[in-house]
Amino acid sequence: MSRKRREIPVFDQPLIETHCHLDYLKDRPLEETLEKVRSVNIERVITIAVSPDNLAQVRALSQLHPWLYGTQGVHPHEAEAYSDACEAEIREHATDDKIVAVGEIGLDYFYDNADREVQRQVFRRQLQIAADLGKPVVIHSREADEDTIAILSEFEDTLERRGVIHSFTSGPGLARYALDQGWCLGFNGITTFNKAENVRDIVRMTPVEQILLETDSPFLTPVPYRGRENAPFYLPFVAEKIAEVKELPLEQVLSATWQASMRTFFPDDGAH
Ligand SMILES: [Zn+2]
Repeated sequence: MSRKRREIPVFDQPLIETHCHLDYLKDRPLEETLEKVRSVNIERVITIAVSPDNLAQVRALSQLHPWLYGTQGVHPHEAEAYSDACEAEIREHATDDKIVAVGEIGLDYFYDNADREVQRQVFRRQLQIAADLGKPVVIHSREADEDTIAILSEFEDTLERRGVIHSFTSGPGLARYALDQGWCLGFNGITTFNKAENVRDIVRMTPVEQILLETDSPFLTPVPYRGRENAPFYLPFVAEKIAEVKELPLEQVLSATWQASMRTFFPDDGAH
């Protein structure tokens, strides 16, 4: 018995999916997913690198369609696999045509999959790449608010003020710091979860001009599709939730988040 779930809404205004992991999706053939993505008016998709093992794959994915983009970087979970060779690869390709940011990089003290000191070193080394190349960053920070602020502070004078703390689940202190620095915060299906009132509080304090929409698929499927594999085409549910939480017209959320995404990742396409 399957309950009929609400269909994915399709809006007149375009959306930008700022964070997903296309190479992790398993439920259907990639081209089928991408067709569905286009059918709900998602205009651009950024697929995110996480490890030395998927840097090349993300670059290949970014070449599949004009509207697909990628990043280059190593996630804190994989920090112990980071090497000089890997750093050289990120440096070489971070300025490729379809590569829009260094990421995802950062600190994760919840899972502690890598030694914390190694995580901090690898975070700094990749921030340095972004600073040297003038690229924006995609940051992952979990239960590491204090150290994330401390390390970002070291780069205040060298890093471009373009980037996002994605899948934001940290406290108001890190949110305040990031927003004051001109960063964006990325929100996803977590905003639709019953228990996530703390995340909705952060949405309330974040100017809509500094919000990026993401799915982080295949993880964190939004209501009403929880239980299924997440995919970028569920992004409209995140947009609706942000509008509801911020008590703003949907049109305003769509245009503000679209502009924030363009400013962050596609600064040269501003005239679009
Ligand atoms: Zn991610």
